[in-house]
Amino acid sequence: MSDNNRRNENWATETAAVHAGEYIDPATRASSPNLVMSVTFAPETVTGFSARDEQGYEGFVYGRVSSPTVKQLEDKLAVLEGGESALCFASGVAAAHAVICGRLGKGDHLIVPDANYVGIAELARDTLPRFGIDVSYVDLSRPEEVAAAIRPSTKMLWLETPANPTMKLCDIEGFARLAHERGVRDVAVDSTYATPIATQPLKLGADFVVHSLTKYICGHGDAMGGAVIGRKADLSALNLEATVHFGGIMSPFNAWLILRGAATLPIRMKAHEEAALKVARFLEGHPEVTKVFYPGLPSHPQHELAKRQMKNFSGMMTFQTRTPGPDIAARMVKQLEIIHYAVSLGHHRSLVYWIGTGDIQSSTFRHDPEQLRRYRDYAGDGVFRLSVGIENGDDLIADLARVL
Ligand code: PLP
Repeated sequence: MSDNNRRNENWATETAAVHAGEYIDPATRASSPNLVMSVTFAPETVTGFSARDEQGYEGFVYGRVSSPTVKQLEDKLAVLEGGESALCFASGVAAAHAVICGRLGKGDHLIVPDANYVGIAELARDTLPRFGIDVSYVDLSRPEEVAAAIRPSTKMLWLETPANPTMKLCDIEGFARLAHERGVRDVAVDSTYATPIATQPLKLGADFVVHSLTKYICGHGDAMGGAVIGRKADLSALNLEATVHFGGIMSPFNAWLILRGAATLPIRMKAHEEAALKVARFLEGHPEVTKVFYPGLPSHPQHELAKRQMKNFSGMMTFQTRTPGPDIAARMVKQLEIIHYAVSLGHHRSLVYWIGTGDIQSSTFRHDPEQLRRYRDYAGDGVFRLSVGIENGDDLIADLARVL
């Protein structure tokens, strides 16, 4: 394990994606990461029975505390995000739950966006209040709303940029400054859509970055996972509580698959962006399409922020059509030949899904009427969420042209 933490601050992202965290296995000289499925390890010295007693012990003891293949992925993610440390979880939602419930308790106040990924929105709306955590919902495109929502008990500001499904961006640096100046301890950013190739939130002042690894970082739609990246001391505390007590850890097999995916993240993100730009321009010029939200298009309301904050515009976009969305969706299910009509995103394969405003408002974003009105103004009756894969952009355009 001597060079288990192998990292080199001077490596370019492409090199770090391949090499960071990985090492030649000392026993077998295997060049690719070993898949270690063992759940228990024979320590070299006598250790305590509680994970608390293992603090300071460098080796592995039990798979819920840490294990070698998962650790390689954690070390790679920490380097890619420019963070000190990372922890992996069974899914993106498990990672979000870990950071929120590992940091907050009864009487604490959390600020979340009024529209963000449904699983986390529902966790905030339905579950957290049962544990005494107060939640406020704000429109992140209105910084004055965030400023007004901060209270003495506010412990965390949760950001998601670009947001699922609205494609709204938020200014991480500005919000981190505002929150910290006003005494908010934690700024956490769900950066699943952006990936570290586009944006490194820790370098912009955030305290935690959260990813659904199920999406771009795995990239192949065959393994679920999540991660939290941040300061070493914070992550050690989170390890003791979130992995050891909540238990939503990542399987080594998933870590092994995601390690393989992460190695090609930089080149995949270039391909996603190239195809997405072509598709977004095509959609924007199509008579059936009324609106396209893609951060790489000058028509995106926050294109200037996107240029400043994103080194890659990623492959995610939404669009709206003249014909009612459910009718086009029905055609998509039957007629698309390349793009799959399916949920999820960030895979090498393109995916599209209709997200109806009625569904979202009744299931997820049940906030005040003014917020619902604003969501409807923005999203109309709904949006198609399109995750452009790494296929050839012209082939994707031909596929979409057939159903539009
Ligand atoms: N965050 C974002 C932005 C997402 O889009 C998703 C899933 O779609 C998640 C978090 C949750 O990830 P998972 O499905 O891996 O739990």
